[in-house]
Amino acid sequence: MTDDGAQRSLPANRRRILLLVGAAGAGKGTQADILSRELGLVHLASGDLFRQALRDGTPLGDKAREYMDRGDLVPDDVTIGMFMEQLAMPSARRGALLDGFPRTVAQARALDDTLAAQGERIDRVLSIDVPVDELVERLAGRWVCPTCGTVYHLEIDPPRVRGICDRDGMPLEQRDDDRPEVVRARLAKQIPPMHEVVDHYERAGVVSRVDGRRPIAEVTRQILDALRDAGLTVD
Ligand SMILES: [Zn+2]
Repeated sequence: MTDDGAQRSLPANRRRILLLVGAAGAGKGTQADILSRELGLVHLASGDLFRQALRDGTPLGDKAREYMDRGDLVPDDVTIGMFMEQLAMPSARRGALLDGFPRTVAQARALDDTLAAQGERIDRVLSIDVPVDELVERLAGRWVCPTCGTVYHLEIDPPRVRGICDRDGMPLEQRDDDRPEVVRARLAKQIPPMHEVVDHYERAGVVSRVDGRRPIAEVTRQILDALRDAGLTVD
């Protein structure tokens, strides 16, 4: 173990709470899997938490269901409660990697307050930055064979003949959700609140930005370097 200041700024018994931010297509899920494994952190993804709470019928899950059944948004305090429940589990004793929450500045402030009440905070925000045009390229590159269901990607995994299925020669189709204009509209809704959340934590000086255009292993390396530089290295 090196004495590079990390131990001084962070008692060994104190856990780390990280927030991973990135638009759809930025590779956030992939990095979350790698990082939670490498760092021994529990991966708390908002979608998973909801599904789990609803399935298990926890009191907060039941509360969330009431709102969802009415077609209302689940209030932030209910969502925060779900995260805090998970943070209280033994699986989170070394720390947690939050993914997909907080999604708005209001949620971020409420989460900050709740964490502060127990002497904790978001230790680092890792923003995986990818330009919108590249996100569109990544997300809108999917084409599917209507007959056999094989999925191709124009950049990553293209068919031998453009627009034609390798296996049965059928013309490939694009799902509505994968059309560039639909992808772009979805990102246009998603990105501004995400930037506001990053700006909020930027003011607290806890943001590290990584270049999400790089290959997966390099993005991971950038993140681990950022955590080390911030004195949050996990041995
Ligand atoms: Zn096919």
